[in-house]
Amino acid sequence: MRDTFNRKIDYLRISITDRCNLRCRYCMPEEGVPSVGHGQVLTFEELFRISRIAVEHGVRKIRLTGGEPLVRRGLIPFVERLCQLPQRPELTLTSNGLLLAEQAAELKKVGLQRVNVSLDTLKPERFEQITRRPGLDKVLEGISAAEAAGLWPLKVNMVPIRGVNADEIADFARLTFEHDWQVRFIEFMPVSGDLDYPPESRFSAAEIFEVLGSIAPFKEIERKGPVGPARLYQFEGAKGVVGVIPAVSDHFCGECNRLRLTADGFLRPCLFCEDEIDLRTALRQGCSDEELAQLLLGAVQIKPERHRIAEETVVPERRRKMQGIGG
Ligand code: SAM
Ligand code: SF4
Repeated sequence: MRDTFNRKIDYLRISITDRCNLRCRYCMPEEGVPSVGHGQVLTFEELFRISRIAVEHGVRKIRLTGGEPLVRRGLIPFVERLCQLPQRPELTLTSNGLLLAEQAAELKKVGLQRVNVSLDTLKPERFEQITRRPGLDKVLEGISAAEAAGLWPLKVNMVPIRGVNADEIADFARLTFEHDWQVRFIEFMPVSGDLDYPPESRFSAAEIFEVLGSIAPFKEIERKGPVGPARLYQFEGAKGVVGVIPAVSDHFCGECNRLRLTADGFLRPCLFCEDEIDLRTALRQGCSDEELAQLLLGAVQIKPERHRIAEETVVPERRRKMQGIGG
């Protein structure tokens, strides 16, 4: 699939649930987000059908996300079915890690290749402050379990927030001396005006590089395979690598290869544009595979050239936050 800017679209991110067992302040308001009704969430059968058609039309990578994907019952058989598709897409998952210790081995067994774990602090009280829930020990156990299960390379995603956890960038980066992980720093994105951190909280990629430079000499490493948004670097003598994702200051829209599917069945051609294509109604009205494929191709055709969040002077209150789109 190619969009009107000649970008090849071969990556589908599926939010399998909008529910979450954390309440990260940069992602959700205190009271949570009104959950999509049970009947509105796509069934695994519906998610599988969309995935199959997407793969038949050139999708090569599927990431399962949420909300928190590990809270949805039935995930493991779903992963297994996706892995049995004849074109066998690369299959990955993004998780907050809380339930990973219980599920990592089984996920690996049914075919999951990799996992990205989101972790923003190594301090227990701070974890509770950012996520509004306890659980750092569980996340660390989850990371160990993923590593032991062979979900490799293990990626740890950290969102540095000024005045909150940006002082831990160096501690996270130093983890790569000990561990063969990819520790990635993602610029905070001001997704919606009603979240706890204002746009000025963003710790920019340039500031992140400054901190990295104060630790040890590092060199850029060549990215192999499909190019993602992270620029990768390695400190001299380190086992792992660090990544920087300048999601706002130097958006990677020119290389964007993604479509996103929300848990309630809407295709979003862009993380930050409100345009959505309703697959759920079509599915439940008995559309054919061909009609579903046309909707998919239609979403590709309306992918905008780029997002403009860096230019917004006032952040609007958006209906869907990150948890509703999948990040
Ligand atoms: N619950 C899972 C998790 O936290 O990994 C998956 C869904 S979460 C929405 C996916 C990713 O989005 C996480 O890595 C999270 O840190 C990131 N995220 C959420 N809100 C963000 C924001 N405002 N700016 C940057 N990243 C954000
Ligand atoms: Fe949940 Fe992930 Fe959002 Fe945190 S970032 S509230 S873990 S969906």
